[in-house]
Amino acid sequence: MGQGHGWEGAVLKLLRAKDFAFTVTGTEDVSEHYRRVHLTDGGMLAATGVHPTMWVRLWFDNAGRPHQRAYTLVDPDPAAGTFSLEFALHEGCASDWARAAKPGDTIEATVHGTGFERPRPEPTHVFAIGDPASLPALNSLLGALDCAPATVWFESAPDDSTLPLRTDPARHEVRRVPRQADGDRLVTEVKSALPTLLGATPEPYVWIACDTTTTRTLSSYVRRELGVPKQRMHALGYWRP
Ligand SMILES: Cc1cc2nc3c(=O)[nH]c(=O)nc-3n(C[C@H](O)[C@H](O)[C@H](O)COP(=O)(O)OP(=O)(O)OC[C@H]3O[C@@H](n4cnc5c(N)ncnc54)[C@H](O)[C@@H]3O)c2cc1C
Repeated sequence: MGQGHGWEGAVLKLLRAKDFAFTVTGTEDVSEHYRRVHLTDGGMLAATGVHPTMWVRLWFDNAGRPHQRAYTLVDPDPAAGTFSLEFALHEGCASDWARAAKPGDTIEATVHGTGFERPRPEPTHVFAIGDPASLPALNSLLGALDCAPATVWFESAPDDSTLPLRTDPARHEVRRVPRQADGDRLVTEVKSALPTLLGATPEPYVWIACDTTTTRTLSSYVRRELGVPKQRMHALGYWRP
């Protein structure tokens, strides 16, 4: 890691984080609010390996100050040393970087904290709750748990119907939920359907990745009120509202 990432960088360094610089090779505007950036990996994938839902900590510049945010690898290819990133665009330094990204731009990254524990036994049904920020991770999860059918609650703006969900209509049911009332609409829809669905599932796996408040509300509901054991669920807030 370069000097000057401040105490956060120093702490990650002490934790033996690995540092890499990625280079942009191309970009694609998937929709008005979603942009894909293609990159070379600076040797990262060969050094770290790859796992489902893998993410990296990227160091953006915020008027001269380091600004670290997590992003998920899309289609990592260790042999080629390439991957893509998909940015849900909103206000913010990471989004601004993605909007302006062009071939030749570089960005530093730290790999620390990412991991994936495959549910055992294999789920007979996956219940996944996500949004555009966790869409790359959701796609990766569904790709990894490719034997299981899934019900997906996908929260997004009403005009985001073109987002690249890699779902298979034969196995995956997608329930689109407009983001309303700071995520409360999503909470209501999940709570009204999940108990019955869980009741019919011998080996469920519940995956929750939306804004931090909604994620906390839903994970505590699933764990405490529905009694799903913690090894049969995964919950991580992806952004702070
Ligand atoms: C493990 C992990 C993996 C992630 N992978 C991805 C990924 O692949 N693609 C991706 O787009 N995001 C991903 N995120 C989310 C991303 O890190 C956050 O959205 C981050 O806050 C973006 O930083 P920023 O500098 O653009 O905005 P910030 O400076 O953090 O926030 C600026 C403003 O934008 C709002 N905001 C932040 N994120 C969102 C959002 N998603 N939607 C609406 N408003 C928002 C904030 O509330 C704030 O008002 C991931 C998060 C985690 C924890």
